[in-house]
Amino acid sequence: MLAGKCTPAPGESVKCLGIPRSVHNSPSEPTECCRTRDSNRDDKFTEKMATDNLTAVLHGIEDLRLEQRPIPEIASDEVLLAMDSVGICGSDVHYLTAGRIGDFVLTKPMIIGHEAAGVVAKVGKSVKHLAEGDRVAIEPGVPCRYCDHCKRGKYNLCADMVFCATPPYDGNLTRFYKHAADFCFKLPDHVSMEEGALLEPLSVGVHACRRAEVGLGSKVLILGAGPIGLVTLLAAQALGASEILITDLVQQRLDVAKELGATHTLLLDRNQSAEDIVKKVHCTMSGAPDKAVDCCGAESSARLAIFATRSGGVVVIVGMGAPEIKLPLINALSREVDIRGVFRYCNDYSAALALVASGKVNVKRLVTHHFDITETAKAFETSRYGHGGAIKVMIHVQPRDANNPVKF
Ligand code: NAD
Ligand code: ZN
Repeated sequence: MLAGKCTPAPGESVKCLGIPRSVHNSPSEPTECCRTRDSNRDDKFTEKMATDNLTAVLHGIEDLRLEQRPIPEIASDEVLLAMDSVGICGSDVHYLTAGRIGDFVLTKPMIIGHEAAGVVAKVGKSVKHLAEGDRVAIEPGVPCRYCDHCKRGKYNLCADMVFCATPPYDGNLTRFYKHAADFCFKLPDHVSMEEGALLEPLSVGVHACRRAEVGLGSKVLILGAGPIGLVTLLAAQALGASEILITDLVQQRLDVAKELGATHTLLLDRNQSAEDIVKKVHCTMSGAPDKAVDCCGAESSARLAIFATRSGGVVVIVGMGAPEIKLPLINALSREVDIRGVFRYCNDYSAALALVASGKVNVKRLVTHHFDITETAKAFETSRYGHGGAIKVMIHVQPRDANNPVKF
C-alpha cells in the first residue's frame, strides 16, 4: 500500500499516511473526508506501482536512457520507497561524460542518482522505526557493518560499502527503489522532499567542517563555491565560524555565496601567484584563517589552502581532482598545518537534518532548476553546462510538492 492510505489512529479519527495531516483539513474542519480523497490517490498509486517503474539508467559514456525496470522486492530490514526528489551531483555528470571516477569504472548499466528522498511504500518485517507513508531522506551508502571500520564507527571507510550510483551499484533515480531502513531518515512535516535530497551534499559539508574542527569563532577559508563549497559554508556558519572567506573563479558563484552569508568573497584569476592570493586572503580576513577547506579539487587550490592557513591550523581536502598532485609538504609540516582528507560522510545525516529542520541552515537557495524524471536528459545537460547559472538541479519523480505539506 502506498502513500495516501488512511487508517484510524488512537486519539484521532483518521491518520493519513504519506499525505501529512497539515495538507488536509485542519482538525477543527471536519468537512471533506480525507479518506475518500486519499483512497482515490491510493488507487492511482497502486496502479502505477503495478505498471510503471521508469528508471534512468546509464549504459555507457553519453548513453543515459529512461527505461522500465522491475519493482524491487524488499528484504526484512529494507523499505521500498516511492522516490520523490533526486538532485544531480557532479559525480553523476562525471559518470555520464567519462564513465569512471578514479578506480570506479562503469562496466555494466547502472541506475544513476544518489542525492534523494522518497516516501515509504512498503516496510520490511523487522523494520520498527518507519511506516508506510513516512517521508524520508536516503543516506546513499550502506556499509558492511562487520568490518573493523564499521565497528569503530568510521563506516565511510568500509571497503565493502554499497553506494548508490557508484559502480557496480545502482542509484535511485527511479520510481521505486529499495534501501536499508536504518539508512533512511524520517523528515518532519515542515521539511520538504527537496531539502531531504539536499541532506546528501549538506552531509559532506558537515563532515568536512567536523574534520576541520570548525567551531565557535573559527576563521574559515573555503576554496570553490560550487554546491559542495556552498554547503560547507552553510555548515561552517552553523558550527559558529565567525569569518568565512570563499573563493571561486566565477563571480556568479561568489554572489550566491555572499547571499548565503559568506563574510568575504574573493574572485581568483588563474594567472595570480599563490603568494599574491595569500596576501589578499590575509588582508581580507583579519589575518590567516585557522581552517581551510578545498572544495574544488585543483592542485593550485590545495597548495593555496596550505600556504594561507595559519601555523597550527587544519587544511581539509574535499575536492577530488587529479589522483596525484604536488603539495608544499615542508611548509605544512614545519608549521604543523594538518592536512586531512574527507570521504563523503559518516554519522552526519542526523546533524544535517537537525540543521535544516531547526532552520539554522537553509539549503533551498542551492536549487536553481527543477525537471520531471521524463526530462532527465535535459536536467543533466543543464547541470553539466551550468545553463542558467545552475547550481543544484533537482529531478522530480513525482509531481512537485506532491509529498510536501509545506511547499518547497
Ligand atoms: P563544482 O565543479 O560544481 O564546483 C567547483 C567550484 O570550484 C566551481 O564553482 C569552480 O568555478 C570552482 N573552482 C575551480 N577551480 C578553482 C580554483 N582554483 N579556486 C577556486 N575555485 C575554483 O563541484 P562540486 O559539486 O561543488 O564539488 C566540489 C569538489 O568536491 C569536486 O572535486 C568533487 O569531486 C568533490 N567532492 C568530494 C567529495 C568527498 O567525499 N571528498 C564529495 C562530494 C564532492
Ligand atoms: Zn564495513
